[in-house]
Amino acid sequence: MSRVAVVTGGTRGIGAAISVALKNAGYAVAANYAGNDEKANAFNGATGIPVFKWDVSDYASCGEGIAKVEAELGSIDVLVNNAGITRDAMFHKMTPQQWHEVVNTNLTGLFNMTHQVWGGMRDRSYGRIVNISSINGQKGQMGQANYSAAKAGDLGFTKALAQEGAAKNITVNAICPGYIGTEMVLAVPEKVLNERIIPQIPVGRLGEPEEVARCVVFLVSDDAGFITGSTLSANGGQLFV
Ligand code: NDP
Repeated sequence: MSRVAVVTGGTRGIGAAISVALKNAGYAVAANYAGNDEKANAFNGATGIPVFKWDVSDYASCGEGIAKVEAELGSIDVLVNNAGITRDAMFHKMTPQQWHEVVNTNLTGLFNMTHQVWGGMRDRSYGRIVNISSINGQKGQMGQANYSAAKAGDLGFTKALAQEGAAKNITVNAICPGYIGTEMVLAVPEKVLNERIIPQIPVGRLGEPEEVARCVVFLVSDDAGFITGSTLSANGGQLFV
């Protein structure tokens, strides 16, 4: 029987590529999303991957969502915490709402989701968790104090949980993508992309969502059973950590 994987924010951008790569690798995949029904339904139509709407920043909704996935596909073996948002502002202009929305989705969302599947993974002595952090959580980024803090928090969460899961054959790893060509990044004005962002990337281009997805497929595979608590950077040589 296929292993079951849940990908949060799995209907577009990096998450969509992860969902498709896991399906192609033989997993039964559930793709979660927040509210963009049009994109989610188009993704479902194109890939046949079932889509499930809930908000990862809401603990109770995560519980209900996971219960639906398990009723449809079975117990969850793999969780990819990919859903994320930005609410950028220089710190002196950042509102409490911008801070809380980003922290609640990008950091507390990992607690909300992982807490729902952790007990089952412990009971079955098997689990694979991959958290999608960011290069900006590693180095900090001006205009993103909220996002950088949340994404750095994801790395601490990963390392702590890896130690707790190790005896139960649950691995927990993080991936830190650099700039990847998704709507989140392509929303940046073309001039800024071409004149300021891409010149900072040694390989001279944005990454592809599929390049992050292939890292996930490796980290959740049996071949990666000895890798836990690690951070895999995929950033075109921009930052060597
Ligand atoms: P996109 O904006 O393209 O897609 C975001 C996805 O997350 C969508 O499916 C969206 O659902 C979902 N989502 C957002 N908020 C919630 C929520 N509260 N509950 C459930 N689902 C939610 O993002 P990217 O593909 O660019 O980014 C994916 C991850 O990678 C994020 O964590 C991001 O921070 C990280 N990252 C991205 C980089 C990049 O260059 N793009 C670089 C480094 C890290 P819906 O469609 O319904 O809105």
